[in-house]
Amino acid sequence: MVSERMLGLGTARSVIRELFEYGKQRAAVVGEENVFDFSLGNPSVPAPAAVNENAIRILHEDGESIHCYTSAQGDALARRRFADSLNRRYGTQYTENEFYVTVGAAAALCCVFGALTCPGDEFIAFAPYFPEYKVFVEGAGAKLTVVPPEIEQFQIDFDAFGALVNEHTKGVIINSPNNPTGVVYSRETLERLSAILTEKSAQYGHPIYLISDEPYREIVFHGTEVPWVPQIYRDTVVCYSFSKSLSLPGERLGYVLVPTDITDAADVYAAVAGAGRSLGYVNAPSLFQQVTSLCCDMTSDIRVYERNCDLLVSALRDMGYHVTQPGGAFYLFPRSLERDDLAFSERAKQFDLLLVPGSGFGAPGHVRIACCVQTEMIERALPKFRALAESYR
Ligand code: PLP
Repeated sequence: MVSERMLGLGTARSVIRELFEYGKQRAAVVGEENVFDFSLGNPSVPAPAAVNENAIRILHEDGESIHCYTSAQGDALARRRFADSLNRRYGTQYTENEFYVTVGAAAALCCVFGALTCPGDEFIAFAPYFPEYKVFVEGAGAKLTVVPPEIEQFQIDFDAFGALVNEHTKGVIINSPNNPTGVVYSRETLERLSAILTEKSAQYGHPIYLISDEPYREIVFHGTEVPWVPQIYRDTVVCYSFSKSLSLPGERLGYVLVPTDITDAADVYAAVAGAGRSLGYVNAPSLFQQVTSLCCDMTSDIRVYERNCDLLVSALRDMGYHVTQPGGAFYLFPRSLERDDLAFSERAKQFDLLLVPGSGFGAPGHVRIACCVQTEMIERALPKFRALAESYR
């Protein structure tokens, strides 16, 4: 006998993985250059040169101790550098004691849900949302409730949110810039959310924490403002990752920031550490704690994503697709040309376009296009998108 839940998770069908496998099989038949795989959110630009330079230098200078365990919450100097970087950018006064370094944003989120969950607690996410939230929240023993999408601008449907928030709501998850829409929440959206959370926390007599999942924080286009969420809502816990900003998804480095001014901050921080311990994380990779903390004011060449998204948005609109302008990240989330996004994704495969159905993100009637690909592949894919659109006329 094994755990039914874990068996289910381990054997569940993954649409993205299936698309990826299909793409490989199809490439063997028609050639790799004739398959247009827009399914994966793997950064397509290399990490800044300073990443490898620092890694090599550290291995030369510190080749023994760098492989040792660090403090469970992360090396103090690395945490200090993360704090200093945010303080420079946002005028804040964080110290290393507010950071808990993790194995990417995935672990950061798991630690936060594990830390906050008491029996009967619920978390709320806004569709479209990163599907792993459900896995992580349920893994912590809580329930995830999803607010239906606001499909014009992909901001927040506040009426729907107001109807779902209740006395069991322990936290609300936001992700801006967003996977899968690329949309950035405006200051106005965040202020309105903050006002509701403040009012509901007072009404229910306990804080409702805002969990701000920010792996795409620095990937913004055309100067779009990404407000610093803790300055808008006090009870905010930030989950961050270097997977996207520094193109290091395989190195697994991120952090939880528990600002000292949130309600019960000391307990929340200690419980985050406790959750990390119970999940067996021990500490995040030592070498990359140092490397990311030395490079945390940099990004890889994010202009490529801006160029790719701009190119595709204007071409798709010319062809008659409806697509909301992204403010950052590296995804587009156009409407599918038939109501059934799974059928639309299947039809796209006939044109060798691999697009992820929006249903998996809680927003049927859309598909996700990952623009973290070579620009010339997008250019070559445009006739395929046109042929796909024409097949519906
Ligand atoms: N949150 C969102 C919205 C993501 O898109 C991802 C990865 O794609 C993660 C969290 C997890 O990131 P990490 O690689 O840091 O675990």
